[in-house]
Amino acid sequence: MIDVGANLTHSSFRDDLEAVVARARGAGVSTLIVTGTTVAESREAAKIAERFDLHSTAGIHPHHAKDFSNTDELKSIAAHPRVVAIGECGLDFNRNYSPHPAQEDCFTAQLQLGMDLGKPLFLHSRDAHPRFAEIVKSMKVQKAVAHCFTGERDELRAYLDLGLYVGITGWICDERRGKHLLELVREIPRDRLLLETDAPYLTPRDMKPQPKARRNEPAFLPHILKAVARALGREPEEVGAETTRNARTLFGLK
Ligand SMILES: [Zn+2]
Repeated sequence: MIDVGANLTHSSFRDDLEAVVARARGAGVSTLIVTGTTVAESREAAKIAERFDLHSTAGIHPHHAKDFSNTDELKSIAAHPRVVAIGECGLDFNRNYSPHPAQEDCFTAQLQLGMDLGKPLFLHSRDAHPRFAEIVKSMKVQKAVAHCFTGERDELRAYLDLGLYVGITGWICDERRGKHLLELVREIPRDRLLLETDAPYLTPRDMKPQPKARRNEPAFLPHILKAVARALGREPEEVGAETTRNARTLFGLK
């Protein structure tokens, strides 16, 4: 299995990162992609990827768009052989930590960078439908994943029409706010589905017992796989093999 989105630069992993990666591998998560969310964290993500033989992304999350000026630094980080995608980038109209025009500038610049470099894009969209899809469409983005999909049917349809891969997290295990995903996940074509933990966030709510300090980690990806397989009425082994193949295809992993 491949966890396509893990925030291992997060401070909650500072003291036991080695054990976290070892547990992931022990749980069958052969590799993972460390998410970069700022210039500094993208640099750190590449370092972690190098140290543990993993992969990473280079990008600026929409929360930090107000500090963005240009993509020069991201471009140099993206030259690192471990960096397999540009992002996470996108729009977040839920928290609105950055003004919308700044978010759009930061987003389109990264889409352009990814396409210039021939790298796939790791996309974030929260409460930003349909503006997000309009931008992706107008920029003619070819290779990308809508990470941590939590939206409704029309949003999913729009992403699939754009040819995006769709990343599913432990949100699907949340009986309060993720129930709709149990049905929607069936509408994602088999060759478009990706799995991710988004650790340390989004700890699957149905995990018993809940982990210490409720911190999510890549070793919990099999739990998400099982929930997805159950929703699809299929064998976890099959779904696991498919989603792994999809991750390899999109991110060009060996
Ligand atoms: Zn995100």
